[in-house]
Amino acid sequence: MRKGNFKVTLPIDNSKAPLGLLGQELVQLGIWLDQRFEQIRKIQQISQGISSGLFAHEVLERVYDTFHQLIPYDRIGCALISEDRRSVRACWAKSNYPDSMRITQGYQAELAGSSLETILDTGAPRILNDLEAYLEAHPDSVSTQLIVAEGIRSSLTCPLIAEGKPVGFLFFSSREKDTYRPEHQRVFLEIAAYLSVLMERSHYYQQIHDLNQKLLQVQDTLREQALRDALTGALNHGAILESLDEHLGFAQRQFEPLSILMADLDQFKRINDRHGHPTGDAVLKAVAATLQACLRGHDRLGRYGGEEFLMVLGSTPLEVAQQVAERIRAEVAALQVLDGSETLRATISIGVATYEPDAMDQPDSLLARADAALYEAKRMGRNRVCLAPAV
Ligand code: GH3
Ligand code: MG
Ligand code: MG
Repeated sequence: MRKGNFKVTLPIDNSKAPLGLLGQELVQLGIWLDQRFEQIRKIQQISQGISSGLFAHEVLERVYDTFHQLIPYDRIGCALISEDRRSVRACWAKSNYPDSMRITQGYQAELAGSSLETILDTGAPRILNDLEAYLEAHPDSVSTQLIVAEGIRSSLTCPLIAEGKPVGFLFFSSREKDTYRPEHQRVFLEIAAYLSVLMERSHYYQQIHDLNQKLLQVQDTLREQALRDALTGALNHGAILESLDEHLGFAQRQFEPLSILMADLDQFKRINDRHGHPTGDAVLKAVAATLQACLRGHDRLGRYGGEEFLMVLGSTPLEVAQQVAERIRAEVAALQVLDGSETLRATISIGVATYEPDAMDQPDSLLARADAALYEAKRMGRNRVCLAPAV
């Protein structure tokens, strides 16, 4: 026995003589020690297994997979206590009858004055071995109604208390009556403190994880906003030039054409002068939305200057760019912006320049050619599209 082999066989004298009785006691002690050591070994093994999960659901999955060696169940549920300690909220549940579970994630119940609160106060797991009888005695308990409707007949409700602070509950339950014994309570108590700390830890881990996700989203939004013009939502001057750089680089590597459209509102100063700056802003916004709607998903729209827009059309030869520009011009001319009872109209002029594979174009020279074509469109009377000659 000293070497750890507790299951000893002794030549037992079955007489009631003291030595015979001692022999019998020794064998019983050996059996008990053997079972106890086996249990402790399992608890240790299980503890190591469950601690490898960081999120609550990972820890609980492991509990579900391994605890049956210690406690019988058809179902395990977990609920956490709210910060103000007024309610409990189911955060996880798993059973061998997943389709008919009635209490699942999100289910919430009052804690104050409930029988759960008593369990927290005593700190001891509660056994209910005949839930139908319990429901008869407590017909108003909604949670019991639901759990009995699931077919559950026995439950072992275990408080999770981490370093003195109530965290939540673990519910073991079985569809058989009379499932739970004091030894199951005892086993749970041996692992309770450890499990509670794990649950508490995973709760904080989840919070950190959620906050981090939010932070990343905000970062993305800010990064996106930093590239956009606040009024029109189009890319700002720097971002559209960067986009042109990228697109031109790609076109040069792939031997593909690339077209840009430089668009400027006609006589826009007059709109401002007659209707005021805010109305001018509304027209600019409406025009930008029209331009965007005429472009394909991978084309880029930027606000190049005050009332001037630059569009970058990847993989687009001159004839196609001309068609797009013409459609844009027509759509803007058809646009109606309301200013009180008055309907405003606006027109734009567009200069189109295309990079052809093998041409010597750089972003600056392409922009200069589009600008010259735009100037030509203005000179020829506005509300028109002019093409930059090929180089
Ligand atoms: P053109 O047909 O030759 O382009 O004539 P135009 O009046 O449009 O040209 P001009 O360059 O003389 O005037 C541009 C006007 O655009 C003047 C400026 O106040 C206005 N503008 C620029 N940015 C904004 C803006 O953000 N909001 C408003 N409301 N107006 C703007
Ligand atoms: Mg203008
Ligand atoms: Mg201008």
